[in-house]
Amino acid sequence: MKPRQLLEQAKPVLSEDQLLELKSAVYFATKKHEGQKRKSGEPYVSHPLSVASILMEWGMDSDTIIAGVLHDTIEDTDSSLIEIENEFGRDVAFLVDGVTKVSAARSGMRDLNSYLPTTTDNLTKLLIAVGQDVRVIIIKLADRLHNMQTLGYMPPAKQIKISRETLQVFAPLADRLNMGRVRVQLEEIAFSYLRPKTFTKLKKLSKDHLGKSHRKLSRVRSDITDRLKQEDISCTIDGRIKSIYSLHKKLKKVGDIDNVYDLIALRIVVDDIDTCYKVLSILHDTYEPQVERIKDYIARPKPNGYQSLHTTVMTEQGQLVEFQIRTTAMHEYAEKGLAASFHYNEQKLTDAYKTGKIASMPANLDWITQLQEMATQVSEGKEISANQLKIDLFGDRMFVYSPKGDIYDMPTGAYPLDFAYRIHSDLAKHTTGFKVNGKMIPFTKKLQHGDTIEVITKRSALPKQEWLNLIITRHARDKLRSQLNANQKTS
Ligand code: MN
Repeated sequence: MKPRQLLEQAKPVLSEDQLLELKSAVYFATKKHEGQKRKSGEPYVSHPLSVASILMEWGMDSDTIIAGVLHDTIEDTDSSLIEIENEFGRDVAFLVDGVTKVSAARSGMRDLNSYLPTTTDNLTKLLIAVGQDVRVIIIKLADRLHNMQTLGYMPPAKQIKISRETLQVFAPLADRLNMGRVRVQLEEIAFSYLRPKTFTKLKKLSKDHLGKSHRKLSRVRSDITDRLKQEDISCTIDGRIKSIYSLHKKLKKVGDIDNVYDLIALRIVVDDIDTCYKVLSILHDTYEPQVERIKDYIARPKPNGYQSLHTTVMTEQGQLVEFQIRTTAMHEYAEKGLAASFHYNEQKLTDAYKTGKIASMPANLDWITQLQEMATQVSEGKEISANQLKIDLFGDRMFVYSPKGDIYDMPTGAYPLDFAYRIHSDLAKHTTGFKVNGKMIPFTKKLQHGDTIEVITKRSALPKQEWLNLIITRHARDKLRSQLNANQKTS
């Protein structure tokens, strides 16, 4: 990616002022990275420019795009955070700092703020701990996507290592943010490096199979289009083909590709929620529904906010076809996830909710409100603090620490015993007490986000029946039950 290409792409999406700032960021990064090369032989700066371009495609705000241009300057050049703050302002500096901290935490080469653990190697937790501004995580995802797209230049051992990490950490993270398109892109590239032969084989299998079902499906598609037209329903219908990686996972479960019913699914996108249900009933009227395969993710969205109706029907030719029915807003959210909300402003979202185009407000609405408040503050010349940028992305989870500094994520409301069983059930059964943040606490005291917990044990101590009331996690309950049973038998 060349500077000119990026600026060309930015013209229609950024304001005059933002464009000027982007220009000076491009100039800054080009100068700072001067002389550095990517493994591909290209000038290094082509990488941050590509990352910025990806962020722009995702519809991110201009601060995030500019931070994308600058994301490697602190780590890889002589630039300092102060320099970036002076040139590009607090917001951009905060983002670049966040991205740098994530990389630093990973390589363990840099001093971290004291709240950051140094002993854990679990990147997911680090990303969550550092990326309190979700835009930091989104920049990291764009960074990773571009690195995956150019992975061919890396030595094979690195390709494997990076691909594994992508599959274990970054793809699930994208999923957690409901960024479906990015998740699939990351999975496909990673899988093609990890299992090249399987990838090629499945690609061919899918293609051959699609050839058959495509012809049959186009008939179903035109039938359904006619039916919906008769009912005066305007919609778009397109097919989505199952990704190779998810086909691979499915085949492990069902064995044969003939048992994969959603190799291709027909996606019907309509205006509002009422119409979604209307379409569902028309489909069930026309074809024979497979009752056990109806899923209402509108009434009960997935934990990451995904909304849609799914149903599988049997056509007259005896073919099973999966349909996914959703509104335009749901479709956009399913593809772009949290990133989608950066160009949906709050009013638009509220309108979409009130007019029944989405079933629930995305969880990050508070975040958008905060963004707007900050924008106002900045325009009034007021300062904003880093605290204001913190959002509660993982609302139902909290993070606690072992005395060594390892992070554990626990559900809110967990007791110290949940923590003990999480660490080690053989240790937990000998528990006699807990120290939280250095002080003894009773078994009944619930844990708080950020607590450091020390489990005190004695070999002769045995698990007690009443502990069952002092745990909320299933893992702890199951372990404790079997320990109690074992003790009963021996006594
Ligand atoms: Mn990078």
